Order: sequence, then C-alpha cells, then structure tokens
Amino acid sequence: MLGLPRPRAVEPGQAADDRPDVPGLVDRFGRVATDLRVSLTDRCNLRCTYCMPAEGIAPGPQSAVLTADEVVQLVRIGVERLGITAVRFTGGEPLLRPDLAEIIAATAALAPRPDIALTTNAIGLAERVDALAAAGLDRVNISLDSLDPTVYAEITRRPLLTRALEGVAAARAAGIGVKINTVLVPGVNDDEAADLVEWALEGGVELRFIEQMPLGGDRSWQRDIVVTAAQTRARLAERLTLRPHAAPRAGAPAERFDVFDPSGARLGTIGIIASVTEPFCGDCVRTRLTADGAVRDCLFAHTETPLRELLRAGATDDELADRWRAAMWVKRAGHGIDGPAFAQPQRPMSAIGG
Ligand code: SAM
Ligand code: SF4
Repeated sequence: MLGLPRPRAVEPGQAADDRPDVPGLVDRFGRVATDLRVSLTDRCNLRCTYCMPAEGIAPGPQSAVLTADEVVQLVRIGVERLGITAVRFTGGEPLLRPDLAEIIAATAALAPRPDIALTTNAIGLAERVDALAAAGLDRVNISLDSLDPTVYAEITRRPLLTRALEGVAAARAAGIGVKINTVLVPGVNDDEAADLVEWALEGGVELRFIEQMPLGGDRSWQRDIVVTAAQTRARLAERLTLRPHAAPRAGAPAERFDVFDPSGARLGTIGIIASVTEPFCGDCVRTRLTADGAVRDCLFAHTETPLRELLRAGATDDELADRWRAAMWVKRAGHGIDGPAFAQPQRPMSAIGG
C-alpha cells in the first residue's frame, strides 16, 4: 500500500504546473483516486435511449482497443504503483469481450489484490458468470430499467428482458455481490420505481437509481429529462417508507436508504445516485481508462491522456505511471453540469465507460 491518505503536500487549488512528487493519483484539490474504471469496449448489444442512438455509435478501429495483456499491464501499474484498490470493468458492454475471464483472473493475481467488479447489461451473463466468479469477480452491477418486456424493449431497443433476468438470477446463484442499476426515464419507466425496488429487495439485491446524465450518444439531454433524486424519493414514498441508512456514506456516490413496506416491515436498502442534482465531485476517488487506452480524470472531462502509444512503444512502468499521475493532477473540482459554461464531452458514456 502507498500509505493513504497522504497528499499533505497538496494545497487545494494548486496550479497545474506545481505537481508535487508524491505517489498515487493525487489532484490539485487533495483528492486521491483509488477506484479504477476500465472500459473494455465501446461496442454494445443494446441501444439504451439515454446512452446510444438507435443506429449505434461507429466504434473505433479494433486495432486501437487494448488487448487483454495491455489492459492488465495498465491495471497492474495502477495497483502496484498508484494506489488503486478497486477495479471495475465496464464499457460499452464488457461481456462482448471473449477474454473477460482472462482479464479478471490476471487482475485477481495482482498484489495487493484489488476488489474486482463488473458493470453489465447481463445479456449472456447467465452462461458466463460461474467462470467469471471462478476467475475472481467479486461483484456485479446489472443495469435493468424495467420488469415489463415492452418497456424494457422501448428503453433498450432490444426485446431481451428475459435474458437480462436470467443473468440476474445466475449472478445471485453464483454467490457474488449483485446490485441493480436503474435509470428512470420520465413517462417511460418512472411509474415502475417502487415495483423495481420491491422486486430487487425480495431477491435480496440492492438497487440504485442513477440520475440521467448528459452523456448520451445523441446529445439530446436536457435538465427536464432527469428524474431527480428528490422526484425518485417522492415516487417511492407513495408506496414505501424510506429512512436514511445508518452506515456513514463515506464519500460513496449513492445516498442509501432503508426501505419499509406499509406494514412497517424492513425490505432492505436502496441507493440513489444524484450525479446531476446533488453532485459528489468533492469526494470523487475515480480514475478511468478508455477501451483505447486513454486516462480520463472524469466522465465529463474534455481532455484525456493517451497511454496506448507509449505502451506499444515499450515505455517503462515508471513512464506510464508518471503520465497517469500527471493526467489526474489536473482533474477539475467538479463537473459543472449546473454551470452556464457546461458542455457535454465529445465522447459518449458507452465510449468512456460508465
Ligand atoms: N453496458 C453496461 C451496462 O449497461 O451496465 C456497462 C456500461 S453502461 C454505460 C454503465 C451504466 O451507465 C449503466 O448502468 C447505464 O444505465 C448507465 N448509463 C448510461 N448512460 C447513462 C446516462 N446518460 N446517464 C446515467 N447513467 C447512464
Ligand atoms: Fe449498452 Fe450499457 Fe449503454 Fe445500454 S447503458 S446502450 S447496455 S453501454
């Protein structure tokens, strides 16, 4: 371990060219990134309306996508030299990578072993989850926005609800941690919020609502298409009682609530991630790698730092680690969605890795 927390050398707001020689992924505001999100592909087999246009997004050239060995080399540098303690594989749809189990197994062999998670739409998970768990997968977040086949098909533009539900069931049976990610879309699935919570908690699974962010491939986001955290809480309160969860939030993106039914029985815990209306940028511990090997300091960053060419040119671990540290040092204080100068980043969510 690198002895966190440590950036005493960092004064909040320090200038970009004042980077101190401290280990780890420290930024000018004293945040330390320990949580790595790795996009394994920008391709997907669904077309969720808030994420991709119906025709999809032209994928980058296959030669630009990091190989399994290249992914593991960068993850290793993150873990061994930069204080990364948790790795989440995402995309696009990470299950489209045939070498996913191999990548997970190599990540699980690192020392210190990081926590290993996957974010997936679960199409095809049923067939692979046992192998992924055996490789070292600790937990999975499954995206599911509706239990109604027609609504699911309307949101994802694919009639695959049954396959997604099979994936959820198989992940539960595999004995790994399972959470559900749900994006509410006004007039489409927001009336299902309480049904989804009851279904998830009956299955012993925590569900997290995520506010819709301006990252869709068709760039059509507007403030009024966000079902806000406050609106979600109000919707749920029509049928269920929510009480703030006792455990401290400790910088986690989700605000958690204990849920009780009308008889007063506790059903379990849910989370609400209010990235738009109640941002948590001040506590952010994330760093990101795109499928083509660039470091991004934020989902909403306008710049990124390519590592792929350096990697393929045979750069040393020290050189790659230093480039990564420099990329994170200039992370902005916040995403600024509410500010007048906000502009959506060029790359959509499916390309950055959600
Ligand atoms: N394909 C995988 C999946 O859907 O789980 C992984 C990638 S997806 C980009 C990761 C997460 O981002 C999903 O839970 C999805 O619902 C969420 N997401 C996608 N676009 C979003 C948006 N515009 N705002 C909020 N969440 C979004
Ligand atoms: Fe694909 Fe995930 Fe985007 Fe849906 S949210 S289109 S499953 S990448």
